Amino acid sequence: MIILHGIQNILEIKKSCSIVAYVLACLEKEVKPGITTNYLNSLAETLTFEKGAIPGFKGYRGFPYSICASVNEQVVHGFPSDKPLKEGDILSIDFGILYNGWYGDSALTIPVGKISNKHKKLIKITNECLTLAIQQSHSGNTIGDISYTIQQCAEKEGFNVVKNFTGHGIGKNLHEEPPVYNFGNKGEGYLLKNGMVIAIEPMVVAGNAETITGSDGWTVLTKNGDMAAHFEHTIAITNEGPIILTNRNIFYENT
Ligand code: MG
Ligand code: MG
Repeated sequence: MIILHGIQNILEIKKSCSIVAYVLACLEKEVKPGITTNYLNSLAETLTFEKGAIPGFKGYRGFPYSICASVNEQVVHGFPSDKPLKEGDILSIDFGILYNGWYGDSALTIPVGKISNKHKKLIKITNECLTLAIQQSHSGNTIGDISYTIQQCAEKEGFNVVKNFTGHGIGKNLHEEPPVYNFGNKGEGYLLKNGMVIAIEPMVVAGNAETITGSDGWTVLTKNGDMAAHFEHTIAITNEGPIILTNRNIFYENT
């Protein structure tokens, strides 16, 4: 079932999403060679509790941490660790919270120090996939229009999308209907309607996008070791157009 939310609900979800955006903006500033992802996980928890929210991922289907920290060839669901990040790494942080009964969910990929031009481009294009997909997110379009846009944006640059993980509806539950695929055809799939709240999350690989699951049972890695990037926003589809609920820009401007 796809839930259509009224403005009150959307404003409630926006509160949750603002906390997610604030925490991710704070974490991004901390990323540099030498820091550990365990440190980022602890910081995320501290900031979340300070806002009166609850980390959304910890304990979700048994996931043991508050952030997903996926380094280099890790695509999603990576475990934070005590291994220091090093110059040239790329780090994807995925983070969600629960506040007043509503979830927010967002992700970004961050360069660690100086990175290669190829990986700079991977990060830029993955973010662009998300931006263009959001522009497609208005009533009358379909999930397929979002999916197609993401796939085209990645493939025109010679990159590939990960096909076995998707975006999703979000609200009282972290994952709701409909799935938001990162590949597909224009005009296909569910019709988008005002009041839908969805998380769009392109996962793009500079190389082969086939994935395997690591020995921890969670971490998703590319089979060939190629680098992956991941960006995600929770958005609302409204009669004013798409609204990015997890927009971090406000926190960058204020600091
Ligand atoms: Mg996420
Ligand atoms: Mg998500």
